[in-house]
Amino acid sequence: MLKQERYRHFVDYFSKNQPNAVTELHYGSPFQLLIAVILSAQCTDKRINQVTPALFERFPTPESLAASTPEEVFTYIRSVSYPNNKAKHLVGMAKILVDVFHNEVPSDIDQLQKMPGVGRKTANVIASVVYDAPAIAVDTHVFRVANRIGLTTNARTPLAVEKQLVEYLPKETLAIAHHWLILHGRYICIARSPKCDICPLTWFCKYYARTNTETYLLKAEAALAKKTKDQKKKKALDKISKELAKRSEGNL
Ligand code: SF4
Repeated sequence: MLKQERYRHFVDYFSKNQPNAVTELHYGSPFQLLIAVILSAQCTDKRINQVTPALFERFPTPESLAASTPEEVFTYIRSVSYPNNKAKHLVGMAKILVDVFHNEVPSDIDQLQKMPGVGRKTANVIASVVYDAPAIAVDTHVFRVANRIGLTTNARTPLAVEKQLVEYLPKETLAIAHHWLILHGRYICIARSPKCDICPLTWFCKYYARTNTETYLLKAEAALAKKTKDQKKKKALDKISKELAKRSEGNL
């Protein structure tokens, strides 16, 4: 199967089945999302959602966070991974947000990366989720799932994965494709043992093709036959409705 075809099937499936996929992090403003994403590095969204309500309440604005200390922030985030570093990053980020960006979370990926704790992945999340920019953040789930499905080839770094996804995915799907890949990786295509037995993507997944060749071929054939049949059916229905429209115009 050609890479372009895999992309087409991937976009078709998720557009139809998860058209409204969003981040599972809880937030109420770009500032809060920035905090949540910085905290979420190497930690679960579930854990972050447990600590952010109290944190957001104590630090409702960039100024309040900038005026605090890493020691105080630490007390709110002690249960997340790397709390010491993240506390320093949050206070440093807030200071730059106040001093350089006048309390506005910037939309530009390079500008975003000027803040402590904000790498390319976090910057891409903010740009795509907050500003709907055609950017895609590559985290561990996106990296793994894109490689397994075969959306990427020989991509050994997150940047290489990002470049291939940006090259092949339709621009308007880039932001949502990030959530499709993350959610699929979190619940089905999990790292240690992917749940291929319940996965709806088996018929175009490269990993599945490699590990279950015979079943893959049967599934791919059946799915393609169904698609062709559906397309033919749609064409016939379009033709009939056009014909009916013509007739009813003639009767007016
Ligand atoms: S078929 Fe298996 S490896 Fe492929 S995407 Fe689904 S769960 Fe992942």
